[in-house]
Amino acid sequence: MIDRWMFFAGSAALGGTLGWLAGSREGLAWGLLLGLLCWQLLDGFYSKRLLDWLRSEQSNETPVMMAGAQPPLVGVWEEIAVRVRRLMKNRHEQYSESQARLDEFLLALQASPNGVVLLDEEGRIEWCNQTAAQHFGFDARRDLQQHIVNLVREPGFNAYMANANFSHDVVIPGNFNTPARPVKLSVHIHRYGKDKKLLLSRDITPLEQAEAMRRDFVANVSHEIRTPLTVVSGFIETLQHLPLKKPDRDRYLSLMAQQSQRMQTLVDDLLTLSRLEGSPLPGAHEWTPVASLFAHCEQEARALSGMLSPQGHRLEFDAGTDCGIAGFGRELGSALSNLVINAVRYTPEGGLIHVCWKLLSDGRGMVSVKDSGPGIAAEHLPRLTERFYRVDRSRSRETGGTGLGLAIVKHVAQRHGAELKIESQLGQGSCFSIVFPAARVRRQAQPA
Ligand code: ADP
Repeated sequence: MIDRWMFFAGSAALGGTLGWLAGSREGLAWGLLLGLLCWQLLDGFYSKRLLDWLRSEQSNETPVMMAGAQPPLVGVWEEIAVRVRRLMKNRHEQYSESQARLDEFLLALQASPNGVVLLDEEGRIEWCNQTAAQHFGFDARRDLQQHIVNLVREPGFNAYMANANFSHDVVIPGNFNTPARPVKLSVHIHRYGKDKKLLLSRDITPLEQAEAMRRDFVANVSHEIRTPLTVVSGFIETLQHLPLKKPDRDRYLSLMAQQSQRMQTLVDDLLTLSRLEGSPLPGAHEWTPVASLFAHCEQEARALSGMLSPQGHRLEFDAGTDCGIAGFGRELGSALSNLVINAVRYTPEGGLIHVCWKLLSDGRGMVSVKDSGPGIAAEHLPRLTERFYRVDRSRSRETGGTGLGLAIVKHVAQRHGAELKIESQLGQGSCFSIVFPAARVRRQAQPA
């Protein structure tokens, strides 16, 4: 500032001196005036330069240019320019920093597994992430500033928006919802700022499916238990209130025993399934000889065959090359016996049941249970391993089936990295095979 005053004083002094030298007092006054005019002109010149410089920098609309350019100025004007430039530089740094933070924040919202939509006071979309775009079928760029109710046409959602009661979520069908493949979204709105809204959407299809499966399962179990329970309680009432003769009494008691055995088998199968779901996967250090699995199953099959029909079945067991399977012996035994028992139960008496073990050329091992029974129509094959799915309900019940046998087999196979294959044709018998991966199969050491 001092140099400015000095320049002012210098111009006035120079003008005054020259005026005085030129012509006494009046000359002094004119000289002073001229000096001041020169000072004013020079000041005007520099202020215009500063203004031009500022204008040219702003016209670029990039604060970076402003921060880097050198103004063609001197003295106080240069200082003003430098200070303006520094201010702009700071502003620019702050701007870049908040821009980077905003970008990071938006990236984090993009990475969210849930849909995120920011709505303004009117319910127009200000921003949405890719997940939300997929959930609702938006175009994340084109649909900005569109009213969300114009894009999401679900009556449930429109009512939710109209009521403006956002204390709970609303469940609506998702973008790719079809009757065959239902897609369910849970949508929840949260208010923020000055009546702005944050919309969160979550794909709850798997949860809904699991819930539906749980409901079906409970309903099925209740139904399966209720039937024998009704029979047993009916007999108990009869025994309590009617004076029965010994043969009738014995017959009733034996029917009751049958029904309680049915409940027992059901509970056993349910426990087996829940154990399979809850226990750790079988390792590769416990080896079960195929021969011992076969021996145990053969015993069971012969006993059952004799019980179900006087003539029995033709049972063939071929354990093939002496091999072992890595996995839990108890689970493997339960899977094989379920297949063999099914073959016995569904094959009419006198039929052939052939159980064999084969070591395949690629090192895998296959156990198959083939029967000459009624066979299964193609439309049932994909659903056979569903819990409680039965083709022939009455045959299953008559022979003590629970509808869980093949579900157990499939579970055991999966836990051992194996595959359950079912081949069957109506009237042509059935063949159930479990193919074990090579890593779980080995030849047993031959005894010396
Ligand atoms: P279940 O206890 O009813 O036998 P499973 O899960 O073991 O239940 O079998 C499901 C259904 O598959 C059975 O109800 C039966 O209809 C059919 N099934 C299973 N094994 C055979 C077979 N060897 N021959 C014909 N049908 C079979």
